[in-house]
Amino acid sequence: MFGVVVCPKCHRARGADLSNQTTRCAHCSHIIDLSKARVYARTDSKEKLPEAVRRMTEKLAVNIEDYPAERKRPLARASEQTKKPKKADALNLEELRSLATDLNRGKEYFDSKDVQLSLKLERDEDVQRLIDKMLDRGVIFQPQAGRFRIV
Ligand SMILES: [Zn+2]
Repeated sequence: MFGVVVCPKCHRARGADLSNQTTRCAHCSHIIDLSKARVYARTDSKEKLPEAVRRMTEKLAVNIEDYPAERKRPLARASEQTKKPKKADALNLEELRSLATDLNRGKEYFDSKDVQLSLKLERDEDVQRLIDKMLDRGVIFQPQAGRFRIV
């Protein structure tokens, strides 16, 4: 069995006979430990190996070119996603109380929709987690299923 591995040192793809324990990188002479290396493509035929290496090399080149642009977008999105739940998660008892007071203001009960709207939480699980936290801390209670009231 042959496979395509990427040199951990110079990040170039090369073909290797996977029955060997190690292979030496042709570019930087680094000894790649094949038992630990990630194999990106496998093939039974040695003839297909250069083609597989070439494809992996192209893929690596594309990845490197895309790197700055690709990195920026998912990172921004990831931080946005973690920010909102984090904000709700980070609320201390005082803040939970004041939030519950606001939610309960002018009405007898509030529900998960109110929580969602007031904090602009996108995911139901974040809403549920916040409600659970308020219930857990004794800030609110649930007189009826799905209805909450400040203690
Ligand atoms: Zn190398």
